[in-house]
Amino acid sequence: MSEKLLNIKNLHTRIEEKEILKGLDLEINKGEIHVIMGPNGAGKSTLAYTLMSHPKYEISEGEIIYEGENINALRADERAKKGIFLSFQYPEEIPGVTVDNFLRTSKATVTGEPVKMMSFRRELKEKMDLLKMDEEYARRYLNVGFSGGEKKKNEILQMAILKPKLAILDETDSGLDVDAIKVVAEGVKLLADGERAILIITHHNKILQYLEPDYVHVLVNGRIVKTGDMALARDIEVNGYEMFKESL
Ligand code: ADP
Ligand code: MG
Repeated sequence: MSEKLLNIKNLHTRIEEKEILKGLDLEINKGEIHVIMGPNGAGKSTLAYTLMSHPKYEISEGEIIYEGENINALRADERAKKGIFLSFQYPEEIPGVTVDNFLRTSKATVTGEPVKMMSFRRELKEKMDLLKMDEEYARRYLNVGFSGGEKKKNEILQMAILKPKLAILDETDSGLDVDAIKVVAEGVKLLADGERAILIITHHNKILQYLEPDYVHVLVNGRIVKTGDMALARDIEVNGYEMFKESL
């Protein structure tokens, strides 16, 4: 039997007094790939930010159980140390901080141990080759002047270096061409090794072709209203979210 990693029970989240998540339930076991789809404004990014403990998103009810522990009260940095990682829909540009420095510092912070320069360089090069990223990116300022696709690849690189137990990817495939989507999918697959789990939030089917998710969930109006497999994603591709409109 696979081990439970995340169990979200009846989650309600507010942003500035407005309730966005309205009783969301979701269970993720180690080794699984889950996909969340849903119309604009359904609360997908809100779920991602709530899982990462963004201060603007307040849990008013329900529980987030991670590795058997209620983590509702943990801060973002504490959750990151426990192996939760969020790839943002809109990565920030940070002038003055190079990609390699950022990654090395992140790794040291998350693991709580110093990261040796030589082995880090080697690992970085290996992961960048895998993601078909030019080595010069490592020396550029984080996301500054990066194309949409490069920013997303950079998020995947960060994930490959940090090796989180739970990776949440919010629209990591948007703005990517087909080749880049394949690369991102490969990066994601590398991580799905039986000990880790991945939650992908997406609008598109394209990345799903390469990922073979275990579950596809539909999020409408702050709740998961249906769970299925790839057939559900294909159905949505053809028919849109019309069939869930009674949930609105
Ligand atoms: P999705 O990612 O599914 O498109 P979001 O989670 O971004 O949806 O947004 C859900 C709802 O919450 C929307 O109505 C949006 O306007 C609102 N919302 C999201 N972020 C904020 C914020 N920082 N302040 C106020 N309202 C927000
Ligand atoms: Mg969103």
